Amino acid sequence: MSLLFEVGAACAEGGRRGELTLPHGAVQTPVFMPVGTAATVKAVPQDVVESLGNRGAEIILANTYHLYLRPGHELIRSLGGVHRFMSWRRPMLTDSGGFQVFSLAKLRKITTDGVEFRSHLDGSKHFFSPEHSMEVQIALGADVMMAFDECVETPATWQRTKDSMALTHAWAARSKQYWEDHRHEVPWARERSETRDQRSEPTQFEREYDATRFSDKHQALFGIVQGGMYPDLRRESAQRLVEMDFPGYAIGGLAVGEPREVTREMIALCLEMLPKDKPRYVMGVGYPDEIEEYARMGVDMMDCVLPTRAGRHGLLFLRENPADRRSAVVRLNIKRKDLADDQGPIDAGCACSVCTRYSRAYLRHLFSSGEPLGATLNSIHNLAFYLETMERVRSDIAGTPG
Ligand SMILES: [Zn+2]
Repeated sequence: MSLLFEVGAACAEGGRRGELTLPHGAVQTPVFMPVGTAATVKAVPQDVVESLGNRGAEIILANTYHLYLRPGHELIRSLGGVHRFMSWRRPMLTDSGGFQVFSLAKLRKITTDGVEFRSHLDGSKHFFSPEHSMEVQIALGADVMMAFDECVETPATWQRTKDSMALTHAWAARSKQYWEDHRHEVPWARERSETRDQRSEPTQFEREYDATRFSDKHQALFGIVQGGMYPDLRRESAQRLVEMDFPGYAIGGLAVGEPREVTREMIALCLEMLPKDKPRYVMGVGYPDEIEEYARMGVDMMDCVLPTRAGRHGLLFLRENPADRRSAVVRLNIKRKDLADDQGPIDAGCACSVCTRYSRAYLRHLFSSGEPLGATLNSIHNLAFYLETMERVRSDIAGTPG
């Protein structure tokens, strides 16, 4: 078993309430997934990520490109996978590395076989093919892996986008073949004695790790719909991937600078084409009002670095009217001078551990003094705000008659 997806109530706009069961646990959908780039949700410890909002984050994302370069997937494989490496019990998803190769790495050379690139860290030369991306993602051992895709630059012509999409489809088929042949190699079921040296006593987390529960489980693989901003290509891409029959589907190549109505249009037409009984994931979006809108349209999964990145830069999300959790989302810059003696919380209607304890005055002081706790507390509030938003969307959909 790799994945079970049960769809419950749906709303008129197409949004649906569901439960996604993965090897490391169940996830209530629609879900927002905090991004743990280098096996850490930046500045926020795992126990806090688990306790955000009512349920905590039920699934997080890690980046294949970053973990491949540092500390290296072979090291993580030898330690039993990224769950055990970072002490995270719950589900996890890895991207294919494609997006970072195309956006961060230097001197790329693309052939039908794969992409040669230089590390943004030290300039060293590397090669990613669909097979190698799968091999790395199996070593990392997230519950959900992504097929390797080419991310086309924006804007791109129709012909350039079509050619890139054809490459993505060929790579999706190769990713799937490798996954089918090698998915039993996931390191979850490795016994502790195989994964650690004998220098020290294992941590309590490692002692409690039960390898036997994974004996009949493996990772799921999602295909990624591309096609840029061209409706005909988006439809063709969705159709081609559905024919390949993946356990779930992602809509990629969006939120790359296009107007929001175009993003919405592309999502809507992809959702029409994708099977209703499988999870549908829009990658890399967005602002709190966007994730709410897309969830109501029928997107089941989303991820974005925004809540933590904005938090580290002193930008906080809150409701215009704290007492009305449906009021507009507004942004507060914690650097603002007038907050120096503000004794109120970031958001008086937010129940997070930061808003119930700390004042704006204190958070402003932490930020302007460069204290690391400032980044941590701001990130915790923003993540809690995102999870609260999704919780409300889920209960709205569940409460919809029919
Ligand atoms: Zn808060």
